[in-house]
Amino acid sequence: MHTKYPKHHLIKTGHIEHCQICNSEKLHLILDLGHHPLCDTLLTKEMLDQPENTYPLRMIWCQNCTGVQIDYCVDGSVVYHPDYPYKSGISKPLVEYQKSMALSLIKKYNLTKKDLVVDIGSNDGTLLSGFKQGGVKILGIEPTNIAKYANASGIKTIQSFFDIKESEKIKKKCGKAKLITTTNVFAHMQTIGEMIMGIYNLLEDYGVFISETHYLLDVIQGGQFDTIYHEHLRTYSLRSIIALFDQYDFTVTDVERGDRYGGNIRVHITKGKGRKVSQNVTNLLKLEKKAGLDKLKTYTEFAKSVKKARIDFINFLAKVKKEGKTIVGKSSPGRASTLLNYYGVGKESLPYLAELSNSLKLGMYLPGKHIPIVDEKILFKDKPDFIVVLSWHYGEVIMKRLKKAGLKSDFVIPLPIFKIIKNKDVK
Ligand SMILES: [Zn+2]
Repeated sequence: MHTKYPKHHLIKTGHIEHCQICNSEKLHLILDLGHHPLCDTLLTKEMLDQPENTYPLRMIWCQNCTGVQIDYCVDGSVVYHPDYPYKSGISKPLVEYQKSMALSLIKKYNLTKKDLVVDIGSNDGTLLSGFKQGGVKILGIEPTNIAKYANASGIKTIQSFFDIKESEKIKKKCGKAKLITTTNVFAHMQTIGEMIMGIYNLLEDYGVFISETHYLLDVIQGGQFDTIYHEHLRTYSLRSIIALFDQYDFTVTDVERGDRYGGNIRVHITKGKGRKVSQNVTNLLKLEKKAGLDKLKTYTEFAKSVKKARIDFINFLAKVKKEGKTIVGKSSPGRASTLLNYYGVGKESLPYLAELSNSLKLGMYLPGKHIPIVDEKILFKDKPDFIVVLSWHYGEVIMKRLKKAGLKSDFVIPLPIFKIIKNKDVK
């Protein structure tokens, strides 16, 4: 069993002074968003009468490895509380997406019924069900109570955090894995070293670790400052992922870009040094350089445009109120908390956030600003003049659906540049 990893790959709770990825001190403050509550700790009605915790939220860039990160870590057990609201099977596009991801990996790595695929942070088992249908052996690892849903629906899942110790237990019980996947997990963990060495122990020789996370290039080019929140300890560039795995016996062998979470990368990391590297890796590194991800100026320009979008939004709200028109919010993703808390917009300006009728968030309140989250049926009764699309990275789909259902409202897209989309222009 290998248990050694660099000390800086255990992120301690509290203020962080060095780069989480490469340990460099060459860190630059890009955007100070102020103190924020945890974006997925939605409040119940009773909690509105209690004090609410907030933590520093600053976007920091490392000049050495080009990784973006925050410089304050909230303890994982506080962030991922038992009522953590996310459950991936809930949205149909996501189910389809995960299914196609499983199929593509089965094909690329010629997986058969003899091979084991382990998904860490497997949630309700949506991704694994794709592998299971493809006839591959599967195992999920999921720390929250959602593991119970997964097991109930026939996806074998261990309810636990993943670390070196757990990897040994799994190896004894199930054998080594050919593929280990994480989606929307690897940017979140404090225990980077435990995770990577656990994966190392559990993988076969030439086994592959697949990490899918939101992607720095998309965040910067898309003005997506609202993806900065306490769950996202790090926002990886490809260059920073390579810098991370250079510190271990792994090779970054391939990379794919996708449009999940407003732009993501799926990185293929093969056990062992000197493995064959796809041209995709070289090409994307070139693109990152061309886009200036290695230059401070790129990030100061980014911060400037974020501040402009904020002022435009606030001015528009004031104008709407002055003219006696109505405006409400649509959706309450994690990013809505960053955006509205940074903008300082509360329920006096946006009386509610409308969510899908099957959302687990209904009846709760946005952290910090305490805007109620209500069933979107209300939109058809209230017929507001404007709807702010807070899941603006899925803006087109949302606007089309609401228009088709009969809404005549105009839409507000807050980022990357503030804009109004007239109902008649939604095609
Ligand atoms: Zn760094």
